Amino acid sequence: MQTITLLGATGSIGESTLDIIGRHPDKYAVFALTGNQQIEKLAAQCLRHNAEYAVVNDALSASKLESLLANLKAPTRVLYGVDALCQVASAESVDTVMAAIVGAAGLVPTLAAVKAGKKILLANKESLVMAGGLFMDAVKASGSLLLPIDSEHNAIFQCLPANYQGADAAGVSKLLLSASGGPFRGWSVEQMLSVQPEQACAHPNWSMGRKISVDSASLMNKGLELIEACWLFDVAPSQIEVVVHPQSVIHSLVQYTDGSVLAQLGNPDMRTPIAHALAWPDRILSGVENLNLFEIARLDFEQPDLASFPCLQLAFDAAAAAGDAPAILNAANEIAVQAFLDRRIGFTQIAQVVDNSLQGLDFSEPDSLDAVQESDQKARQHSMAYITQIES
Ligand code: NDP
Ligand code: MG
Repeated sequence: MQTITLLGATGSIGESTLDIIGRHPDKYAVFALTGNQQIEKLAAQCLRHNAEYAVVNDALSASKLESLLANLKAPTRVLYGVDALCQVASAESVDTVMAAIVGAAGLVPTLAAVKAGKKILLANKESLVMAGGLFMDAVKASGSLLLPIDSEHNAIFQCLPANYQGADAAGVSKLLLSASGGPFRGWSVEQMLSVQPEQACAHPNWSMGRKISVDSASLMNKGLELIEACWLFDVAPSQIEVVVHPQSVIHSLVQYTDGSVLAQLGNPDMRTPIAHALAWPDRILSGVENLNLFEIARLDFEQPDLASFPCLQLAFDAAAAAGDAPAILNAANEIAVQAFLDRRIGFTQIAQVVDNSLQGLDFSEPDSLDAVQESDQKARQHSMAYITQIES
């Protein structure tokens, strides 16, 4: 029996994870579920999955959750705040932590789970983008098992040898990172000037939370994933190529020096990588339909359009600059995406805000979590001030 804490249970990845857990009550038990604003959903999840603990962000949400749980006669105990998130992520009786909080808020609790040596199912790519060096050092120090949930990275993981010790030793020449191209693939900058949040959140293949949906539309998601892949697989940005593949059936590929290219295919449903990581090295039923190649019939590939989607280029630049440049990129992007969702700035201004932070702030080498958070805060303040300036 694997005992699991699910950080971000009420989100898209959280729900998919609980769907799989619910299919295998003999294999997985829930220790703690966490949420932020969706308190009613969290209460229902606690009841359904018999959670020992539930964690929310503040005292008001905690008391609301407590009364909902009392009405449902659920025995779940309620905690709140970042320390509580860290507590349920590192508790002794927990084997596995699904890190599925969105954005920078995921970093501290995920790192707490790493330091406690838990098996980490990593969906929260932002924590690696912000603090990849510290994060990977902590993984090595604690001996934590780190398994990628992001579909592309999970695909690459599946295509690498089990004893992978770096690209050279494994004979890997390149990682090919799949990108769907998002809802605006093929659009010009002019066409994207007036797009609305609803359009940006309507992904053609994947159903996801709003922040990652906007990132997918701007290709910033692929940029964050590029940085994530560098840390996970210990490769340089130059060893990664982004391949636009609109059908989202090939989730990524690994090219070897002998000319072989291995790929992982499947229907675009996050339950496949989640089930893979939960059961690894075994395989379990995920509820995902078998892939029907005859129905798919064809697979297309294109180069990414860096001129129309400058966020991807900005991420390549931040990856090359290293230091705290990726943390600045990530923080400015979070602020810009929220401003776009709040209709304060246009879609194409997201890249403008990120670029302004990368140009306007000096880079440093963060050597501690505090230093990373300082860079994060600095970039948030800088980009908020810039948004106020350009707000239409
Ligand atoms: P959602 O927005 O659907 O869910 C986010 C979760 O985080 C919710 O449980 C939310 O709570 C919680 N949350 C939000 N803000 C905070 C905060 N400040 N403190 C604590 N908890 C918070 O996102 P997704 O599930 O789509 O994505 C989660 C992560 O997984 C992201 O990092 C994303 O990049 C990554 N990912 C997602 C994929 C997908 O298909 N969705 C694919 C690959 C990676 P509440 O809803 O209650 O407010
Ligand atoms: Mg992905």
